[in-house]
Amino acid sequence: MREPFAITIDGPAASGKTSTAYQVAEALGFHHVDSGALYRAATAAALRANPAGNWNEPAVLVAARIVEMEARKASFCPLLAGEDAEGEIRGEAVTAKVSAIAKMSGVRDWVNAQVRDLADLHDVVVDGRDIGTVVLPNARVKVFLLAEARERARRRLLQRLGREGTDSELDEEAAKLAQRDALDAVQTVPAPDAIMLDTTDMSQAEQVRQIIDLARAAGASE
Ligand code: C5P
Repeated sequence: MREPFAITIDGPAASGKTSTAYQVAEALGFHHVDSGALYRAATAAALRANPAGNWNEPAVLVAARIVEMEARKASFCPLLAGEDAEGEIRGEAVTAKVSAIAKMSGVRDWVNAQVRDLADLHDVVVDGRDIGTVVLPNARVKVFLLAEARERARRRLLQRLGREGTDSELDEEAAKLAQRDALDAVQTVPAPDAIMLDTTDMSQAEQVRQIIDLARAAGASE
């Protein structure tokens, strides 16, 4: 049996990693794994267990036992207590706390083990921050997505509100992203062998096409 093929897509918040990774996986017949969704699921589980939020690592790991991954179309998605919780894990409360939870080394080990288990069995496109450096250092294709802060804020608002943000909304969103970038800076480092892709002036379709071309050049086939 041939070795599964892994593509890693890392980069800062709102750089377009998750939707790009999903579309690349769909086009190649691979599975998409969003490592950020696992950090978010652990955070949502911890918030359910203790809404006050004064958590320690063992308590978060116990709470996270309600998380399991389900294969759905081209993605593996985290379920909470057997149910879809997409709205909850993408919500403001989780987003505000997730970086603190992601600092816990036991939580990082928990996420990394799940990503590696999936990558051992399936051809995957995994997006996150440290996938090409720490989690899957032998991945066949590694990409690091970049985009200017204001453009990332614009895309995030468009996704959330379904319209362009006003100047003040853009300022507020850019400030929130800068805060999360600072909290996540330690783990958001490109692998030395990652291809850097600045997507500031690139369409989503173009990003997807470029990564598919890289994957095909490295031997990926549908
Ligand atoms: O990618 P997303 O913004 O959904 O990730 C949520 C959070 O999970 C990040 O802000 C970061 O704190 C954490 N994360 C991480 N390492 C990853 C993926 C996400 O620390 N590989």
